[in-house]
Amino acid sequence: MSLSCFDLGERMLGVAEARAATARLVAAPLPSEWLPLAALHGRVLAESQVSPIDVPQNTNAAMDGIALSWPEEGVPTAPWPLVGEVLAGHRYATVLAGGECVRITTGAPLPAGANTVIMREQLDERDGCVQVHRPEDVRRGQNVRLTGEDIARGATALPAGTRLGAAELGLLASLGMAGASVHRRPRVALFSTGDEVTAPGDELPPAGIFDANRFALRGLVTEHGGEILDLGILPDDQPRIVAALEEAARQADLVITSGGVSVGEADRVRGALQEVGELGFWKIAMRPGRPLACGQLGAVATPFFGLPGNPVAAMVTFLQFVAPLLRRLQGYRDPQPRRLIALADAPLASRAGRVDFLRGRLRSDTEGRLWVCSTGRQGSGILSSMVAADCLIEIDPERAEVAAGDPVTVQPLSDDLC
Ligand code: AMP
Ligand code: MG
Repeated sequence: MSLSCFDLGERMLGVAEARAATARLVAAPLPSEWLPLAALHGRVLAESQVSPIDVPQNTNAAMDGIALSWPEEGVPTAPWPLVGEVLAGHRYATVLAGGECVRITTGAPLPAGANTVIMREQLDERDGCVQVHRPEDVRRGQNVRLTGEDIARGATALPAGTRLGAAELGLLASLGMAGASVHRRPRVALFSTGDEVTAPGDELPPAGIFDANRFALRGLVTEHGGEILDLGILPDDQPRIVAALEEAARQADLVITSGGVSVGEADRVRGALQEVGELGFWKIAMRPGRPLACGQLGAVATPFFGLPGNPVAAMVTFLQFVAPLLRRLQGYRDPQPRRLIALADAPLASRAGRVDFLRGRLRSDTEGRLWVCSTGRQGSGILSSMVAADCLIEIDPERAEVAAGDPVTVQPLSDDLC
């Protein structure tokens, strides 16, 4: 197998370079499956959806009121005889003659001959006839939704690679689709490593630390569309790690571990991993988050990430490298993290030659400009500043410092902010 991931060796990699190399771990999105509409939320379309109908199907009223034919010039002689009624879900059987009107409700098809709707509140009705308060305000064609104005029959309503959120599901339903073909969710095997790592709920040994990573990573995998295969905590024991990796590579589309890849530990873990697959250890010019192990496992070359043990470093490297891969497996059109520009509220500490990812909090001022500030102490084990954050501030390697008021790139941590 030739994979740039392994050739990259001891050289210090840029973040973008590392991201491009990880993309090559996945040849194609996962196979597709057909699912009913109610099971599609959060899935990604495997095929473009072409509309089989015009939406709306009929030219119809956008208001409750009356429908009539409004001339190109001038005003029809009022009052207009009210000759019938058309309700939503029904059609008006005859053609409306000039000068006549019908009562109409929102969504009802316009009768043939009508082109304009006047809302109820603007009308006077007396003795079976109607007139409008201010005829000069009426525009020909007002309050009418035209056949196919949202989506025309035969048009691509949603392209392949679209993630199906609430609006997309509403749109598919409005086309009468009973379901759609979407990529399978990636199955992600996950375990923590370390003799000191203790399951929450167990008693904490004197030299122990609770397993934060497995639960933070479970959350991230779920948020990024994956299904979890939780293999628990493994001690720093080569045969057990080998066995777990072999099992994980057989069952999962992607394997993630945390811990055991820092300088003092890397050789021991490298031994275990080399028995199961092919692996590169990377130094990436970023903080937090190095080193990172990356490779492929077993006969089917399952992609693998060995994330750092420090919880914030594990989360930040997940977001930069694992999340794009999960999106790639699901067939997203654009798998890269979302970025916005915000202004720094105060100076930000950084260092030239590496990308600094700081935990940040966004606010918008009265003019709608976005500002960002750091959430406090930035040590790679300090999860409380991650909890306070709603974005990562990404400071380029070219910048040695960021002054107050300078623009910086931010990656929102939740889709709500995009
Ligand atoms: P390592 O990469 O194994 O050298 O771990 C680096 C640091 O992260 C050490 O202080 C570990 O105790 C800590 N650590 C490793 N795994 C976890 C975990 N699952 N949860 C919380 N902290 C961890
Ligand atoms: Mg360790």
